[in-house]
Amino acid sequence: MIKLSELKQNDTVVTKKNHPCGNNRWKIVSTGVDFKLCCTKCAHTVIMPAETLRKSIKSVESSGSDSEA
Ligand SMILES: [Zn+2]
Repeated sequence: MIKLSELKQNDTVVTKKNHPCGNNRWKIVSTGVDFKLCCTKCAHTVIMPAETLRKSIKSVESSGSDSEA
């Protein structure tokens, strides 16, 4: 189960459904009661309630800035 509390700005999430552009990766623009996401392919932005987002996420890819070589 995805924990929304672990999601932060600039993390990338993979959704179960593809965007019409064929992409299913989204960058988190802002978090809160509603999350704002930006499609990493076509740059379309969407705003969705946290609960809706939690159901649509397949996996999370952290922006992973802590282990830079
Ligand atoms: Zn898109």
